[in-house]
Amino acid sequence: MHDKYDSRTIVGLRPQKNKVSPFVPYHFLHEEEPGISGNIETVNTIFLTGKECAFKCLMCDLWKNTLDDAAPFGATVQQLDYALQRLPHADVIKLYNSSNFFDTKNISSKEYPAIAERLVQYKRVVVENHPKLCNKYCLEFNDMIDGRLEVAMGLETIHPGVLPKLNKQLTTEDFKHATKFLNEHDIDVRAFILLNPPYITDANENIVWTLQSVQFAFECGVARCTIIPVRPGNGVMEILQQENFYQPPTLAMLEEVFEKSLSLKQGQVFADTWEIGFISECPVCFEARKKRLEKMNLEQKILEKILCNCTCC
Ligand code: SF4
Ligand SMILES: [Zn+2]
Repeated sequence: MHDKYDSRTIVGLRPQKNKVSPFVPYHFLHEEEPGISGNIETVNTIFLTGKECAFKCLMCDLWKNTLDDAAPFGATVQQLDYALQRLPHADVIKLYNSSNFFDTKNISSKEYPAIAERLVQYKRVVVENHPKLCNKYCLEFNDMIDGRLEVAMGLETIHPGVLPKLNKQLTTEDFKHATKFLNEHDIDVRAFILLNPPYITDANENIVWTLQSVQFAFECGVARCTIIPVRPGNGVMEILQQENFYQPPTLAMLEEVFEKSLSLKQGQVFADTWEIGFISECPVCFEARKKRLEKMNLEQKILEKILCNCTCC
């Protein structure tokens, strides 16, 4: 039993990565999301294939679609072109690289001008980045794009006994500092908050800590929060589950914490519904309940509960 897993152990427990190409994004999609003012905007989300993140967070499975080494110079732009040729126009573009957009070991700053050139028609550009890597490169890139920059950062949890064990090398002060830095430069921030991180196994405790983390993020100056149900599947999470240090969340928990977060009315909140089949409690009502969450994401209000006649939920 480990009290704390280090990077080497976490990496050692991982299953194989997927085969990906440095010239093709591993996924892209067209979706809708409310803008900051609440109006519905279209979004092109491109999942760029790049070098694996330098951090090795306990709960992370984003490394599955990454390369061991940096993609060749110009490859990110080729990936962008590949996806943009196949996507319709959208108001917003999200460039998620399964790592940190402003880690120059992942994406060279010399590629920024060519990337920015591809983004001229977008009024908002969202990238993901570790709070400790919010630096001059954010400002350099921000100056090059026409649209407004939004940086999505993992706060994960503010639980003082859990955050250090996630191996994210992050404190709540680091998060606060990064958000202040970005806001001072007119850059919006989105926070990723975990539901059921490892080391909290009680359902009520999980809901309370997720809600408190959402609240903290808003107090720091975050514009919107996405709640992510923590999934098994990266090797170490299965061991944590066997050791009773991790309990997968239920759909009812996601519903409850999402409703409570929306009720705070401190900013926009989204429930991440990406591949949430693993939290389904009932095959009869799952799809309808998932659709309700997606509608609540769009409308930013609590909708009527889905009633189910089954005996399991
Ligand atoms: S910083 Fe993000 S991408 Fe990197 S290991 Fe942690 S969760 Fe994964
Ligand atoms: Zn049901």
